[in-house]
Amino acid sequence: MARRVVIDEEACVFCGTCAEICPEVFRLNEAKQKSEVIKPEGGPTDLIQEAIDSCPASAIRWQDE
Ligand code: SF4
Repeated sequence: MARRVVIDEEACVFCGTCAEICPEVFRLNEAKQKSEVIKPEGGPTDLIQEAIDSCPASAIRWQDE
């Protein structure tokens, strides 16, 4: 089963950690003051997992498709 990376925008506190760790997948949306996923499937899994583990708001997670 495929997995996608999703961000709970309500929970995101716009700290920038995820985009710093894995800019290929996460981008800070300045207008929304939230992080967004720009590449849900194709990113480096280890860096995505590191971002998940590092998010202070626990706002990033895998979602099964
Ligand atoms: S690490 Fe978490 S709280 Fe910080 S910008 Fe990314 S999703 Fe938002």
